[in-house]
Amino acid sequence: MRLEHSSKPGTSVSSKGTIKVVEGSIIHLRLYGQGIDSRIGKMTHFVAVPSDASSLNTSCSEDNQDLHVLPSILALRDTSAVLVVEVKALRKNTHGNKYMMCIKRENGQQLLSDDMLIEVVEDTDHHLPMWLHVSLIAVLIGLSALFSGLNLGLMALDPMELRIVQNCGTENERIYAAQIEPIRRKGNYLLCSLLLGNVLVNASLTILFDSLVNTNSISIAVSTLGIVLLGEIIPQAICSRHGLAVSANTLLITRLVMLLTFPVSYPISKILDCVLGKEMGTVYNREKLMEMLKVTEPYSDLLKEELNIIQGALELRSKTVEHVMTPLVDCFLLSHNAILDFDTMSDIMESGYTRIPVYNKERANIVDMLYIKDLAFVDPDDATPLKTITQFYNHPIHFVLHDTKLDAVLAEFKTGKSHLAVVRKMSVESGHDPVHEVVGVVTLEDVIEEIIKCEILDESDIYTDNRSKRHVSNWRKRDFSAFKGNSSETRVRISPQLLLAAHRFLSTAVSPFSPSVLPEKFLLRLLKYRDVICELKFDEENKKAPQHYLYQRNKVADYFILILQGRVEVEACQENMKFENGPFSYFGVMALGQSCLPCLSDIRSGNLSHLGSSSLHDHHAATSSVSQILPASSLPYLADFTVHALTDLTYIKACAGTPSSCVGGKCPSQTPSAQDPALGHNGGPYFCLSSRMDG
Ligand code: ATP
Ligand code: MG
Repeated sequence: MRLEHSSKPGTSVSSKGTIKVVEGSIIHLRLYGQGIDSRIGKMTHFVAVPSDASSLNTSCSEDNQDLHVLPSILALRDTSAVLVVEVKALRKNTHGNKYMMCIKRENGQQLLSDDMLIEVVEDTDHHLPMWLHVSLIAVLIGLSALFSGLNLGLMALDPMELRIVQNCGTENERIYAAQIEPIRRKGNYLLCSLLLGNVLVNASLTILFDSLVNTNSISIAVSTLGIVLLGEIIPQAICSRHGLAVSANTLLITRLVMLLTFPVSYPISKILDCVLGKEMGTVYNREKLMEMLKVTEPYSDLLKEELNIIQGALELRSKTVEHVMTPLVDCFLLSHNAILDFDTMSDIMESGYTRIPVYNKERANIVDMLYIKDLAFVDPDDATPLKTITQFYNHPIHFVLHDTKLDAVLAEFKTGKSHLAVVRKMSVESGHDPVHEVVGVVTLEDVIEEIIKCEILDESDIYTDNRSKRHVSNWRKRDFSAFKGNSSETRVRISPQLLLAAHRFLSTAVSPFSPSVLPEKFLLRLLKYRDVICELKFDEENKKAPQHYLYQRNKVADYFILILQGRVEVEACQENMKFENGPFSYFGVMALGQSCLPCLSDIRSGNLSHLGSSSLHDHHAATSSVSQILPASSLPYLADFTVHALTDLTYIKACAGTPSSCVGGKCPSQTPSAQDPALGHNGGPYFCLSSRMDG
């Protein structure tokens, strides 16, 4: 047997006579012998020689198709013929790659060419050089990683998100998003291209691994591990966090892949587009948006207040007026027939509200609206009927239905309507037409509180929350009740508002009456004491009458006077300067010394009964009465100014005295020694003029 021809190079004959042929080739074998005829092709086949057994043990019965003898016989002669044999590709699981020729004779005998073997060797011609092979695997793993990463990274960035990032991302993010958006818009085409590329690369990788590692199981394990770890897990983990940057920086490759896979991926993507419709991206509705804000709160840089405001604004449309209104029972209303006297006005002031609904007969029948501003020109003394004011201003009433959504009410408040709306409910009684029933009031503040989800307190608010009715922490009741009505105690009748004004003036402008020295309620008690408020009738006929003098120069004047009504003339200083003073000017503040403080215990305990006034009448010519409530130092004061009336006067007079004199119920000025400074009084402090001069 001799090898005459092979379709592939690389054949050889070993020193032992073994013919080496290359897998996948067609060879021509010339046989020599006697009695060769055309049947030789059918009679000849090859059997494999196991690598661990000798060729002698091999039997011809083990037919095998690795070397397949083709039927055509070439150059047939009596003593030789050329067989055409097809050498199949090597199989990995075969035990050996050496073959022996068997010829079956007609008589059943078999001829084995055990001295001459054919060895099939690997075709190394189509194998790449090792470095190229490894490099190719590395590149393909890289591509596999890229495709799989992009598949996750790019597809996870939906078009909406890209548009959002373009508007509010960092500078880099905006650039990346702008680059990516055009290709991301072709969602299905991109998806098909990336998946096609990925599968192509992964399949190629398997083959390359296979040819690198000859053993099947190892090649499967290596390729699986390589592809999963390097081509899937790591890139997907990276791209899930940095998808935007990776996608933008590999845009060129993505475009190239899209171009290369166009013939397959584009038609598929078109079919998908038709079947699935256009990709919308993630669109959040109100609930989802709210939930997203809540869930992402720990990670977002939003402040709690900001989050509340966003949530409140989102919830606005889901809440109704009924949810935030002040119920009718808690509303401060005025009766249509009310008279705007001091009592009503002080009620209004105490309520602290700016807008007050006015009802007729029953509270649910709101007929008018009063704004506090309307009272600017109203004098409580005039006792103006409320009707007069409401009819004059005639403010329209802003009604809303109880089930109106807060966003709608807010829109109404924005249009210039009253910022207080009366809430009505439609009630249907059988047999009657439906009627509107007033159930409460709602203001702009209620709606805003709902948006910002916290209570707004203004300077006059009494409650933090109109529903729970919790008082504001530093709430001080504006209590005008003590000033209401006509005090039976005071001898001289003055209006409650003048009493209130005098009280406020003394406690804020005159330091001995400030709340730190004399608590407000004691001051009120003092003012209400019968002879503290005095009246002086001016006698036009006798202007120089001694009773017209409130203070006389160099006369003991241990009392304080606050003019409430009328005018006085003051002569002061050595130059006898003269000027007029009017209401709320005061004199003799220095007479109210600090030593009087122990006497306050009397006032606090209400022990004023001993402070008689009858004995005081005859003392001072200028005073119709004197009360000694505020004792001063033991030394009486001398006035160095003269105050005399120019008109009828109403004034407050508080006597200064020592604790002992206070207890005794007498002003020091009543003591004989003090009456005349020239007698007995040895140089007590002299007053300088202490009065409030207008301007
Ligand atoms: P503004 O602050 O504009 O001067 P206001 O203080 O009188 O007015 P708002 O601040 O708008 O009133 O409302 C504060 C709270 O008082 C709200 O809860 C509102 O429902 C309630 N409110 C307003 N007016 C009345 C009223 N007349 N009677 C009872 N509750 C009222
Ligand atoms: Mg307010």
